[in-house]
Amino acid sequence: MIFGLLKQHRRRRLRAQPFPKEWLRTIERNAPFFRRLSVNDQTELLGHIQVFLAEKRFEGCGGLELTDEISVTIAAQACLLLLHRKTDYFPRLLTILVYPSMYMVDEKRHFQGPVWEEGRMARLGETGRQLGALVLAWDAAKSGAADPSDGKNVVLHEFAHQLDFENDAADGAPALATLEQRLSWREVMRVEFASLRAADETGIPTLLDTYGATDPAEFFAISTEAFFERPCALRTRHPKLYAELQSYFRQDPVEYSAELVHGC
Ligand SMILES: [Zn+2]
Repeated sequence: MIFGLLKQHRRRRLRAQPFPKEWLRTIERNAPFFRRLSVNDQTELLGHIQVFLAEKRFEGCGGLELTDEISVTIAAQACLLLLHRKTDYFPRLLTILVYPSMYMVDEKRHFQGPVWEEGRMARLGETGRQLGALVLAWDAAKSGAADPSDGKNVVLHEFAHQLDFENDAADGAPALATLEQRLSWREVMRVEFASLRAADETGIPTLLDTYGATDPAEFFAISTEAFFERPCALRTRHPKLYAELQSYFRQDPVEYSAELVHGC
């Protein structure tokens, strides 16, 4: 209780600090979505970024020398997921490991039936419920922000997983406020996930990345990417999915999406 109050007090102080000009220039240059936000949302976002950068540890890996540009660009995207909600700032996450570009991991992956494939796999990012860490490739994090409407964003993807972990399960459902919301979420996600799986199996083109057909946790992560990057298309083609995400994130990215330039 006392600890909680101290933490809230510390965070309030961090949010109120003047935002470093150099960081703001980095955000304006690297994260074009920022300029499209309302002034209130910009202020809220900058406050969240101050807390995020004060509380999370960044580490450069694979020879990457960490700079403010790297941590600020990543924080700006991650904190977009926190607007308008009471948040505990990705409480399970302590460290963000950043590689210069796509990195290789040894992996055993389920292929089909009893068959597993093993080998070196290339990755742009990953995180895990018990890990306390999140890994990103800097070039992918940077290019994901540079094009805010191509539907792909590895930072939003990995941090969506962290939101999924907040209610202690990696089940594709973040911490939802009411039972009604939880029931509605479960039903809509079940149907949408099944339809993505079916489309993936039959090779029908989809708006949602078919990587989301892997499991419900990946489905939530790729839906989050689509929600922020292709909101008009998502709202048109998956209105129920859009409505669930809008109710959880308490924002309507159609209002500030660069996708609008091409017509909704
Ligand atoms: Zn994922």
